[in-house]
Amino acid sequence: MSEHSLFEDAIKQLDQAGELAKVDPEVLARLRHPKAIMQVSIPVRMDDGTLQVFEGYRVQHDSTRGPTKGGIRYHPDVSLDEVKALAFWMTCKCAVVDIPYGGAKGGIIVNPKDLSRMELEKLSRGFVDRMADFIGPDTDIPAPDVYTNAMIMGWMMNEYSNIQRKSTPAVITGKPIALGGSLGRDDATGRGAYYCIKELERKRKWEPTQITVAVQGFGNAGQHVARLLHADGYRIVAVSDSRGAIYREEGFDIPSLIKFKNESRQLKAVYCEGSVCELVESQNITNEALLELDVDLLIPAALENQITLDNAKDIKAQVIVEVANGPVSSDANKVLIEKHKLIVPDILANAGGVTVSYFEWVQNRAGFYWTVDEVHHRLQAIMSRSFGEVYDIMDEHLTDMRTAAYTLAIKRIGDAISAGGTRQYFNGDQK
Ligand code: NAD
Repeated sequence: MSEHSLFEDAIKQLDQAGELAKVDPEVLARLRHPKAIMQVSIPVRMDDGTLQVFEGYRVQHDSTRGPTKGGIRYHPDVSLDEVKALAFWMTCKCAVVDIPYGGAKGGIIVNPKDLSRMELEKLSRGFVDRMADFIGPDTDIPAPDVYTNAMIMGWMMNEYSNIQRKSTPAVITGKPIALGGSLGRDDATGRGAYYCIKELERKRKWEPTQITVAVQGFGNAGQHVARLLHADGYRIVAVSDSRGAIYREEGFDIPSLIKFKNESRQLKAVYCEGSVCELVESQNITNEALLELDVDLLIPAALENQITLDNAKDIKAQVIVEVANGPVSSDANKVLIEKHKLIVPDILANAGGVTVSYFEWVQNRAGFYWTVDEVHHRLQAIMSRSFGEVYDIMDEHLTDMRTAAYTLAIKRIGDAISAGGTRQYFNGDQK
């Protein structure tokens, strides 16, 4: 194990949840090891004529419940260890929301902001070229993640289809609508988290206008959850991106912030009245300070390991909804639980993305496309049901919500593994 292994940290969840789920220890032994790992190098001819070689990974963690599914991340800090952790979380996430997939993840070590669009296209096609025998609509289906988007998914689908000599839209999800993407995929992760928060609102009898919210990470997932909460009256008092955070006690007009951020690629406080947008006073704070704000609801929606032993004791929010994958380290989780914080865990809170990816795959295979209302309706049904199931396990076992979510996931994966025969069965102890 390296100095700090995200994967080793992630699978610590297995023991406690395995006990509550009462699964065979063999199930846990299987889940401690990814099923298959592919490492590739991707040579790219750059615009200036030089050659650069990029390193990429794809990890398939477990495929007992169906083909593996998970995003592809472009980031300079991508590592095999990180991709393994993300693939493990995907296995558990698909089981929590009970969609027929196992878990996978991919990544390329690159800062996409340093590449031209043509270089980015070559890199994305090159990745699929190397991975063509490893992925497929019946085996392993990628999707977008940090710093990858619909256009990149479209290039990848096109490259895979070229290699197979047939149109294969179901090989990848999160595609542009014009290339077989699903309506409602763009905001699915944020919307799924929003449906969880609405369930919590009912349980805790919240009055939205009284609830203050801080959102770390104003990308795809963070923007949409902020937009939907803001539309219901929640007061979003702080948001941030990789360059820093802004704070405004009265709350921000989120649609204006989104417009400004997406047009200018930077975060500045804007406030919209009617059709006139004007810059408003806001305080610049650091990303660290955002996490420690005295708000009711904290939504980490950037990267993993943002709340660690270093800052856990300073977190004031009573409720944390993990839209990012793994934003709270396992040590920090213990501190927060001791402080009676409610943490809606990533494998539930951000499962809306993979759920609508599943809808996209179903539509591609059927060749029959749904309306956006159908997508929202089905997503809400799955998120609300899953939230309720996890909440009930938490109440029943007097445990925290993360352990409850893993308990549900491991029970479902365990049932699938045991259906293929258990130790007792092969020993002849069980008919
Ligand atoms: P994105 O690339 O659209 O946005 C990421 C945002 O985080 C950007 O605004 C970036 O500036 C910001 N950021 C980066 N480093 C930061 C830092 N140190 N502090 C504050 N902000 C920082 O990515 P995304 O798709 O929104 O993904 C965000 C998180 O949600 C990731 O953990 C991802 O794994 C998870 N997630 C995304 C999806 C999806 O469908 N997009 C699904 C499930 C989980």
